Amino acid sequence: MTVSYESEQAIAIEAVRSASALCRAVRAEISPESLSKRDQSPVTVADFGAQALICRTLAEAFPGDPVIAEEDSTALQTPDNAAMLDRVIEHVRRLIPDAERHDVLRWLDHGGARGYSDRFWTLDPIDGTKGFLRGGQYAVALALIVGGRVEVAALACPSLPFVPRSDGPVGTIFSAIRGQGTRARPLEEESPVHEIRVSDQDDAASARFCESVESGHSAHGESAAIAERLGIITPPVRLDSQAKYAVVARGEAEIYLRLPTRADYREKIWDHAAGALIVEEAGGVVTDVAGRPLDFTHGSELAVNRGVIVSNGRFHERVLNALG
Ligand code: AMP
Ligand code: MG
Repeated sequence: MTVSYESEQAIAIEAVRSASALCRAVRAEISPESLSKRDQSPVTVADFGAQALICRTLAEAFPGDPVIAEEDSTALQTPDNAAMLDRVIEHVRRLIPDAERHDVLRWLDHGGARGYSDRFWTLDPIDGTKGFLRGGQYAVALALIVGGRVEVAALACPSLPFVPRSDGPVGTIFSAIRGQGTRARPLEEESPVHEIRVSDQDDAASARFCESVESGHSAHGESAAIAERLGIITPPVRLDSQAKYAVVARGEAEIYLRLPTRADYREKIWDHAAGALIVEEAGGVVTDVAGRPLDFTHGSELAVNRGVIVSNGRFHERVLNALG
C-alpha cells in the first residue's frame, strides 16, 4: 500500500505558517535597546510560542504521533520565568483566543519525545535563533519521519524573499513529500506555488557555497581551505538556519558545508530533517562529512553522523574527496 501523506503535508504547511506569524509578531516588538542589551527573551518567547502552536496542531490531527521538538516547558515553569510564560500565552492567544496556561504547557510538552519510533515528527520551532535576533535568516522546521526516512517536510523561512534577491514578498515556505519534488510558496499567500530545482552548475569557478554565520557551528577556516582546493573563487554566503538548505534547493548556491568544530558534537535531528528532504526532492544530495546518509534512527541526535555536506549533486564527490 502506498501512503500519500497529502494531509500530513497540508497540515504541516499550515502549522509552520501560523508559527511564523507568531515569530514575526514577536520580532516586530523587539526594541533597539532590548537588542543592545543582548536580551535573549524575545527569541525565547517566539521559540516556545511557535512550538506550542505547532504541537497543538499535531496533537489534534495526529494524536498517536510522537513529536521530538527542541523545547520543553520545564524552564518556563520556574517562578523566575513567570513573566516570560505570560508573554508566550499572550502571543499564542492572538491566534488561539481561548488558550489557557495549562493548554500551552501541555502543547509544549507534547514535543517532549526523545526516543526513536517508527513514525514521529521532529520540530525546530525557531532554527537560527541568532539570525532571528539580528534580523537575518531563521526557519521554522517540521518533518515527519517514517521507518527512519524523512517522508514529509515543511520549512518556513519568514525572512527569505520568495523570488531570490528580489524586493517582492518576503517569507517563503518550502515543502516536500518524498518522491514528489519540492515546492515553494509565499509565506502569506496561497499562490503562486512552484516546483524548485537545484542548480545544474558544475564549474567550480562559478560555484557558490554557504555556511553558518556562527564559526562555533561550522569550521570556517576548513571550509575556506576546501573551497580553495576545489577552485571555488566566490566567497561563502553566510546565513543562519536551515535557510541554507533552501538556497541550495532553489539553485542560489551549489554547496552547503557544515564542518564539525568539535569531535564530541552530535547534530540534532530537528536542525536537518526538514532541510534534507527539501534538498533531496529538489535533486540535490545530503550526506555527512564521511559521505554517509543522515541516519534518523537514533532519537534526537544524528548519533552516527559527523557534520553535514549538502550539494546540487554535481559537486558532491569532489567535496568529499577534498575533505579527504
Ligand atoms: P546555524 O544557524 O546553521 O548556525 O545552526 C543553528 C543550530 O546549530 C542550532 O539550532 C543548534 O542546534 C546547532 N548547534 C549548536 N552548537 C553546535 C555545534 N557545536 N556544531 C554544530 N551545530 C551546533
Ligand atoms: Mg536549530
